[in-house]
Amino acid sequence: DVTTEYPLKVEGLRKSFGGITAVDGASFEVERGTLTGLIGPNGAGKSTTFNLITGMLKPDSGTVTFNGENVTGLEPHRIANRGMVRTFQIARELGEMTVLENMMLAPKAQRGEKLWRSVTPGVRDDVIEQEEELLERVWKVLDFFDIDHIAEEYAENLSGGQRKLLEMARALLTDPDMLLLDEPFAGVNPTLERRLLDHIHELRERGYTFLLVEHDMDLIMENCEHVIVLHQGRVLTEGDPEAVKANEDVIEAYLGG
Ligand code: ADP
Ligand code: MG
Repeated sequence: DVTTEYPLKVEGLRKSFGGITAVDGASFEVERGTLTGLIGPNGAGKSTTFNLITGMLKPDSGTVTFNGENVTGLEPHRIANRGMVRTFQIARELGEMTVLENMMLAPKAQRGEKLWRSVTPGVRDDVIEQEEELLERVWKVLDFFDIDHIAEEYAENLSGGQRKLLEMARALLTDPDMLLLDEPFAGVNPTLERRLLDHIHELRERGYTFLLVEHDMDLIMENCEHVIVLHQGRVLTEGDPEAVKANEDVIEAYLGG
């Protein structure tokens, strides 16, 4: 069935800010188990589309369907509950917390309801059980990203790349089906970029679905099996990297702005 093959479906998404139409009827689907790239020149509407999908912004019109369910305009933690998560930059105030503390906080912010609902008298055992489960999962994820040795380090002392690893690690804690990453390599040195990409590829092989938002066309072309090109708020073309790279409209969009 189509919903299991294509977990994410975006239809006719529109969003204006005052007189500027940032997203102008974007429609596309993301196939399960793929690393799909959403590219486009600066101002194409990539970040706005990303924010509309993940619930950070509400669209003026259009729909976002995830695993067959209409999630348009739902709050980010509700969308995360359904298995679609995005990475969050580590806020400045969390810099004074350790990597481990940041990890333990993450599900509260993303999972929201589930944990809050259980913080009531009479279900204390559940809470404790959940905390233990969480801690076990935290260490597994830290180990996967090879940052378990810096668990006690303050977040503000991490390098740019380690911070990105932590951001991805936090997103994984909710055990999602799909991860959305908006320019995850910005400010990351080539060695760490390679490491992040290796992690992404490994997770994809395990069955996770990725939508990667990037302006760096080469990076997307080398790593994604499917590429969607956004231009002036709508899909200009999509296909495999070779086809997209050869498309003259794409070349023009990037050169002409
Ligand atoms: P991209 O991520 O592809 O560079 P954006 O989605 O950030 O593009 O922006 C698309 C267009 O919408 C740009 O012209 C940008 O200036 C405008 N825009 C984005 N967010 C806002 C906002 N909050 N208020 C006003 N204009 C915005
Ligand atoms: Mg952007």
